Formats: sequence, structure tokens, C-alpha cells
Amino acid sequence: MTKEYDVVVIGSGPAGYHAAIRCGQLGFSTACIEKWQNKDKKTVFGGTCLNVGCIPSKALLDTSHKFIEAQHDFETHGIKVSAVNIDVPAMIERKDQVVKQLTSGVAGLLSGNKVDTYSGTGKVTSPETVAVSDPEGETLELRAKHIIIAAGSVPIEIPPTPIDQNTIVDSTGALEFQEVPKRLGVIGAGVIGLELGSVWARLGADVVVLEAMEGFLPAVDRQIAKEAAKIFTKQGLQIKLGARVTGSKLSGGKAKKSVTVEYTDSDGEQKATFDKLIVAVGRKPYTEGLFDSSLGIELDERGFIKVDEQCATSIPSIYACGDVVRGPMLAHKGMEEGIMVAERLAGKKAQVNYELVPSVIYTHPEIAWVGKNEEELKAAGIDYNVGVFPFAASGRALAANDSEGMVKIIADAATDRILGCHIIGPSAADLMQQVVIAMEFSASAEDLGLTMFSHPTLSEAVHEAALASLGHAIHIGNRRRRA
Ligand code: FAD
Ligand code: NAD
Repeated sequence: MTKEYDVVVIGSGPAGYHAAIRCGQLGFSTACIEKWQNKDKKTVFGGTCLNVGCIPSKALLDTSHKFIEAQHDFETHGIKVSAVNIDVPAMIERKDQVVKQLTSGVAGLLSGNKVDTYSGTGKVTSPETVAVSDPEGETLELRAKHIIIAAGSVPIEIPPTPIDQNTIVDSTGALEFQEVPKRLGVIGAGVIGLELGSVWARLGADVVVLEAMEGFLPAVDRQIAKEAAKIFTKQGLQIKLGARVTGSKLSGGKAKKSVTVEYTDSDGEQKATFDKLIVAVGRKPYTEGLFDSSLGIELDERGFIKVDEQCATSIPSIYACGDVVRGPMLAHKGMEEGIMVAERLAGKKAQVNYELVPSVIYTHPEIAWVGKNEEELKAAGIDYNVGVFPFAASGRALAANDSEGMVKIIADAATDRILGCHIIGPSAADLMQQVVIAMEFSASAEDLGLTMFSHPTLSEAVHEAALASLGHAIHIGNRRRRA
């Protein structure tokens, strides 16, 4: 049996469900195919982000942050609590409930926007057809004028540390521990390594992060990365840079296994034993079985589906967006691409501004940035002014006893146009978003400086950083020029 649609979307992660919902809103007859099944063998929508990514990791980050506050911070405020304990299974259960609520919400949004959903694996069989194999093995053909591939990504595995999802886990397994590991190893000091390493460190694990690169957070502005390294080390994360993992050995009985990791660093060969090991060395596009190679959909050298700026593949009826295509693997980038593709199909001139994709690491303090950092501007030979404002001089941050970090704004020396914003500090993600809006409107640092900010807020640190770049912060802020 063949069913006909205007648009068929493969995948219901952030990219896929945004594309499908917008297509529905624009009046296209739309289908969305999803293969993800939960522990109860039920199809669930929302992809990596909702099931095992952004949302569950933030649920655990929020719980573990409250735990740390109760243990160490409340006392500073004069709040006495006795014996703070963590019930790990209850924490995991709450996280699962949040996931359940949101994935059901996406199912509701899809049906509310008249998107037909199909459970099963989609395979593009021609420029206009997709075969869907459902979990029972039945196959159905969908015919569409347009196909949007939003199949997402999966964790990268490395040969020295094969994942068993018990002792050696990927990010998905690291969201399911039923007790706090005494000794936790993390391979990769990237976003996942730092976020999930922080969760378990806050709950009491002794965490060692092994990072192959010599530099810490190479994509982050150097001043911010240096501050982050200092703060995370103070929090107890042991970050070993230049550590190349060469092998691992499991030992111990069935119930209580441990893993010994062999690695080399500048001191030579090393060994470290952990109760759990998280492998977080990046993710790769997921294109397995997605289409016949004879179809002519091109992949790049890293396996991403090749697309242009508007997410069009080499086949006119087929688009691809989200983690399965070039660019940062971020939910919001996929969401905007999904919407852009839907609107383009409706003849609108939608565009994604790839210059302003914000990035966040949800540690505490958070790290957030957008636009260019100092190193990139130096390399490009662009002269700039820098304004830095430390949270230690923010009344609101001090009132909250949360005053580590700084806001840094970089503006073009000639035009004063804001070129980048880099923050480490409380609510960095939300603060940085204000600058993203300003940059989207091509604001100057002076525009931000002339804007009234309510007092007392953390946002005032953004205001003061802008003023600092102009050389007249009212409080401490300091200015540097590179001209
Ligand atoms: P996915 O979310 O991976 O969804 C793809 C969907 O397609 C999946 O549901 C999959 O089952 C389905 N699919 C694949 N192939 C087929 C097929 N053949 N047929 C049918 N269905 C198919 N990003 C952020 O921006 N902020 C964060 O805080 C953040 N935290 C993260 C934390 C963790 C632990 C992880 C792992 C990731 C995190 N990310 C975060 C990244 C974010 O999850 C991804 O960038 C985002 O989910 C990508 O969206 P997507 O729609 O492209 O793909
Ligand atoms: P990542 O690319 O952020 O970090 C991987 C790290 O592992 C890198 O520092 C890399 O040098 C290191 N590495 C690679 N191979 C190694 C090896 N053999 N030994 C030791 N270190 C090694 O990747 P990730 O943390 O796995 O995250 C995957 C993706 O998910 C990222 O692209 C990220 O954008 C996305 N994500 C985003 C968020 C967020 O937005 N807050 C959170 C989690 C994940």
C-alpha cells in the first residue's frame, strides 16, 4: 500500500519535529517517521535531545546542583540543613518523568499540527518514495513531493574502550547510573564530558577526565577557557590533558566490575582504575541504512549528508538538516534548519544565520558564547575592543553568593559593532542570549551601553561589559584594545 504526502520527514528529533510541525502549519500534508523506542517498546518522539540528550542531562545537572547547594551553599545563607543525602534512583526516576512529559508533548504537537506519525525505520528508496519498516517487520511505502532527512547522530566509539553500557558507557548509559560511582573516569573533556562529569562529581564521585588534546576547550575564548579550567579543578574535576587512551581491561565479578584504563601522556604510560567509565569523544552523523547509495545522495568525508546553506541535498526533492549535516551538533541549530526547510518548501525566503549559532556548556558556572573570540579575530587581522566585567563586582551575583566568572564583549575597533560575547558565570546562557539578539540586529557596544538594564540583575554585567569595551564602565570593568 502506498500513501501520498506533500512532505515526509525522517526523524522526530529537534530538526525533524520542527520541520514537520512547520510543514503542517504551512498547510502541507505531512508525515513524520520515527524509529526510537523506549524501554517499554513504545515509539517515542523528540530524538536524542529529549530522550537521552539536552533534557535528561539538564535534569541531572539541576538535581546535582541543588544537592551541592544544600550541602555547601545553604549554610552561607544561614540555612541549616542536617545530613543531605542523594537518592539516585529517585533522581533518575524524576529525570525519566521529565523526558516522558516532553516526548508525549511532542507527539501531541505533531498530531495537533495534523502531522501523521509512523513508527518504524524510514529508508529513502527513490527521490519521491520512503519505505517504512515497522517494529513488527511490516513495510509500507510513503510517496512524497519532498523528503526531509533529520536522522541525527550517535555517539562515536573508540576501539580501546568498547561500550558495554554497564561499566563502560556512552552518554546514554551515563544518564542511568543507579548509584554514585566511587571512581568515575571520563574520556573526552568536551561538552558531554564536562556536563556529565560535573553531575557525578557533585554527587560525590572522584572524577578523572582524560582528554587527548593538549589544550582545554579549544573552541572557547582562551581567557574564558582558562577561568573554566581553574574553577572546574577547584570543584574537584581532575582534568588530564594530552592523555591518549590506548586500552582498557575489565575486572571484578559480575556485580561489581571495574575498568582499568591505559593511557599515555607527557610522563609516559599510565594506568587508572574506575568503577564506571564514560566515553564522550564526540558524535557522528547517523546515516546507516537511510538510503541506497545508488540514489546519489552525497556524503562528505566525515559522513555528513552534503547540503548547501539552505539544507538542499544533491537531489532536488530531498533536504537534510540537524546533526546529520555539517555545522555544530546543537538542538537549536537543527530546529532553525528544520523551520527554514519547511518555509523554503512553501516558497518563503527563510535563512539560518550560521554566524550567530550560540553555544553553551551547562556546567556551574555555565559557559556561553556567540560570534568571534579574540583568537579568531587576531587570526583574521581584525582590530577590536574588549570589555570585561567580573561577576565579583555584580551586586546581584554577590547577593546570590554566585559570583564566579565574567562577561566579555568584543566589538569592532572601527565600527563598534559587537563581534562576540563570551561568558562564564551564573545564567551565562540566558545572559548571552541578550547579546545574540543585539548582534542579530547588528548592534554596537554603544547601543547596549545606552540600553537601560533593570537593577539589580545579572544582566547588568552584560551592560557593564559593553560600557567597559567603550572605556567607561561604572563599576570595575576593564578594557583592552587591539588596534
Ligand atoms: P536527533 O535528536 O538525533 O534525532 C534524530 C531522530 O531520527 C532520532 O529520534 C532517531 O531515532 C531518528 N531516526 C534516525 N534514523 C531514522 C530512520 N532511518 N527512520 C526513522 N527514524 C530515524 N544540544 C543542545 O543544543 N543543547 C544541549 O544542552 C545538548 N545537550 C546534549 C546532551 C547529551 C548527553 C547529548 C548526547 C546531546 C546533547 N545535545 C545538546 C545535542 C542535541 O541532542 C542534538 O544536537 C540534537 O538532538 C540533534 O537533533 P536532530 O533532530 O538532528 O537529531
Ligand atoms: P565534543 O566534541 O564536545 O568533545 C569530545 C572531546 O573528546 C574533545 O575534546 C576531543 O578532543 C576528545 N577526544 C576525542 N577522542 C579522544 C580520545 N580518543 N581520547 C581522549 N579524548 C578524546 O563531543 P561530546 O562531548 O561527545 O559531545 C558531542 C556533541 O553533542 C557535541 O558536538 C556537542 O555539540 C553536543 N552536545 C551539546 C551540549 C550542549 O550544547 N550543552 C551538551 C552535550 C552535547
